[in-house]
Amino acid sequence: MGAGVATETLPTRLFINGEQLDAAEGRTHDVINPATEEVIASVAAAGEEDVDRAVRSARATFESDKWRKLSARQRGEAVWRLGELILKNKEELARLETLNNGKPVFESMIDVRLAAATYKYYGGWADKIHGETIPVDGPFLNYTLREPLGVVGAIVPWNFPISLAAWKVAPALACGNTVVLKPAELTPFTAIRMAELAIEAGLPPGAFNCIPGPGSVAGSALVKHSDVDKIAFTGSTEVGKQIMRDAAGTVKKISLELGGKSPNIVYADADLDAAARGALTGIFYGKGEVCAAGSRLLVEDSAAEEMRTRILERAKKMVAGDPLDPKTRLGALVSKRQMERVLGYIESGKSEGATLLSGGARTPVNGKGYFVQPTVFEGVDREMTIAREEIFGPVLAMMTFSDGMTGATELANATIYGLAAGIWTRDIKKALRTAREIRAGTVWINTYNMYDAASPFGGFKQSGFGRDLGVHALEGYTQVKSVWVDLS
Ligand code: NAD
Repeated sequence: MGAGVATETLPTRLFINGEQLDAAEGRTHDVINPATEEVIASVAAAGEEDVDRAVRSARATFESDKWRKLSARQRGEAVWRLGELILKNKEELARLETLNNGKPVFESMIDVRLAAATYKYYGGWADKIHGETIPVDGPFLNYTLREPLGVVGAIVPWNFPISLAAWKVAPALACGNTVVLKPAELTPFTAIRMAELAIEAGLPPGAFNCIPGPGSVAGSALVKHSDVDKIAFTGSTEVGKQIMRDAAGTVKKISLELGGKSPNIVYADADLDAAARGALTGIFYGKGEVCAAGSRLLVEDSAAEEMRTRILERAKKMVAGDPLDPKTRLGALVSKRQMERVLGYIESGKSEGATLLSGGARTPVNGKGYFVQPTVFEGVDREMTIAREEIFGPVLAMMTFSDGMTGATELANATIYGLAAGIWTRDIKKALRTAREIRAGTVWINTYNMYDAASPFGGFKQSGFGRDLGVHALEGYTQVKSVWVDLS
């Protein structure tokens, strides 16, 4: 067992109707600590029967008087308390996240805090969700009610397990829905723990169920289940497309937060020190396993040389370390498979003619782990694979543009994705005009990777549709009922 952790201290079972359970067919899968390559737990792997059990439990609680029929304020208070409990248990949760995902514990703590803030934010919304009265023709009173959808299936990836789960579960619950959460196979710990804490927070059994298991089995069964009203998904564009097809059979609602290939634009008039710091945060935070990673650094040609020097200076100082060490800033990639994928992209960059400036190899820590050096390419052409495909690793593709804003936005938008973008300049008009031209759901000006529970996040183009966070997410977890009353 890795890192001195005993299996029994880790959350390893399904959580359905307030109870820890093994999978009906007894299946399990091994969870590996990517920093040590050791198996640290054997986790229950939900099959179709378990999905059905979880959905039935969520449905029964939805139909009962224990959740949606509570006063909105009582519901909101329970969701808020879950946020408080996450904060109270933040050290444990951050450690679980790091053991599971390989990210530095310093980053896991940021994720745990964002998860807590998300529950509190939506707990606060619960009693502020209301309909309208509408001035229709004739002697009628017409008003609307905003009602929950029913059972929400949330499917999340492995890169931000606790925060992405919270982005979906918190608004769903606050609106009065019940939830079945399917975390990624690789990273189930914090999701299960959060469902357990929900009971402590006073949510009724069945309001928040958690079923770790393979996507092709448990995820697929959840999407196809006829009694699930909505699927809220974050993951790859490829699986998002499959979910659209599978959800069609039951006409369920879906929201999709998918991949990205986000441009980080540096104009020559920018504060280049700040831009270089932002470029590195943009791609190396979360080891680049970030949907919004600024994986394409687009530099105005007259500043290219200066940016290159600054980037290299800093990239060379970034050293991978033990993710459980609070000083570590670069952790391990989530799995061997992901590391091999990233190394494969690095090879493709070299073979397609880009210049490798820094990094490019595996860098074990204490002789172990799926760590990859911070990698920087220059001379990247827009047609190269590393300029087009989401690498999901610490690999930066530097490209240059001329022709000012026109050149910048044309190159920035030359992608099938539209999740996020960064703009670095001292010229506020240019910044705001560029922000308007970028086809992406989030634009950061003179900063990168900022998130807040109150600010909407989601994609344009093949980065998906629907929004997490902010007031906008509430629309995705409610439906509108129009009521007519004859007053004549
Ligand atoms: P993935 O698409 O392989 O898996 C995501 C989730 O879907 C997992 O829980 C998986 O088990 C499940 N799944 C897989 N096949 C399924 C199926 N047929 N039916 C239902 N569920 C299925 O993604 P990943 O490799 O875990 O995560 C990386 C991807 O997630 C990247 O593309 C990244 O950009 C994206 N992502 C997007 C955002 C965003 O907000 N837009 C945030 C984080 C990650």
